Amino acid sequence: MLQDSHGRRFSYLRLSVTDVCNFSCNYCLPDGYQCTDKTEPLTLDEIRQLAITFAKLGTRKIRITGGEPSVRRDLPDIIRIVADTPGITEVAITTNGYRLPEFLPSWIDAGLTKLNVSIDSLDTRQFQAITGHDRLQDLLKGLELAHELGFNNIKVNAVLMREHNADQLPQFLHWLRDTPISLRFIELMQTGENKEFFAANHVSGDDIKKQLLSQGWQPALRKPDDGPAQEFWHPDYAGRIGLIMPYSKDFCSTCNRLRISSVGKLHLCLFGEHGYDLRPLLSEQKSDQLKQEIRMSLSEKKATHFLHDGESGAISHFAMIGG
Ligand code: SAM
Ligand code: SF4
Repeated sequence: MLQDSHGRRFSYLRLSVTDVCNFSCNYCLPDGYQCTDKTEPLTLDEIRQLAITFAKLGTRKIRITGGEPSVRRDLPDIIRIVADTPGITEVAITTNGYRLPEFLPSWIDAGLTKLNVSIDSLDTRQFQAITGHDRLQDLLKGLELAHELGFNNIKVNAVLMREHNADQLPQFLHWLRDTPISLRFIELMQTGENKEFFAANHVSGDDIKKQLLSQGWQPALRKPDDGPAQEFWHPDYAGRIGLIMPYSKDFCSTCNRLRISSVGKLHLCLFGEHGYDLRPLLSEQKSDQLKQEIRMSLSEKKATHFLHDGESGAISHFAMIGG
């Protein structure tokens, strides 16, 4: 398995298949998607080659992300290619849930095993104010459909922001009483383009953690290959909570993931300075070179990010690389 010089092992790949998005979340793409680079996203053959090579290097889980992955018409083909790759046991997707009830059956049919949907508010108007789209009800129908289809591997991502939806914590908790999903509160992170927004809206994950602990939520036992999320459960609730706190001490020590951008660059860290261009090596004939390049690049992975020093790396916003 891929391992870096700090002893961390990487069995999880986040694969961005487009940087295009149809939402305009205020913390990510407040002005909507702007095309700054006309490079075509990875083709199906290139995705196949990446999946095969990473699987040979020990990757077991691939998460398809974006931008918004569902803007690609060939998304079911992408899921199928990844799911059919020998060695890959988990195929996950992170989506804003656009037309989820319509799309989900074809994703499941193609081999999807895990679904993460971003829902930053359970209030219809607030959801629209944050994302620019009035699609909350449609999205919740998609989650119901998932349950009806017996698909239970669902996580919901929410970013709490001081000036927008921090008041939603009680609503989210109420929802979890009878809803058997895992809700992930992702701490707002600073990117190249959201510095002022970040300063006005960052809510510390530690504050959320304190509130959870005071209400009887309990930390779940960690398994050896668990990623950076801190998990909590509560005897009176059907759902669970995960906190993703990139500003917390030791966050990076449990890093278990690598990232590929939609144009085939390997990013060792969400907040790194640059990506390693793998695209010229994405053919069957260059498979050994590709493996070697990935291994060599990994030796340069730093022990931590430099977010605490206000350095958020080269990424202007997470739609560029998939979060
Ligand atoms: N469009 C899809 C979606 O929103 O789920 C996938 C891509 S999006 C970049 C992946 C995740 O990153 C989402 O859950 C989103 O809330 C999160 N995200 C985006 N920008 C963020 C930021 N600055 N801080 C924390 N999370 C962020
Ligand atoms: Fe699009 Fe996801 Fe960014 Fe929202 S968070 S703008 S849905 S990429």
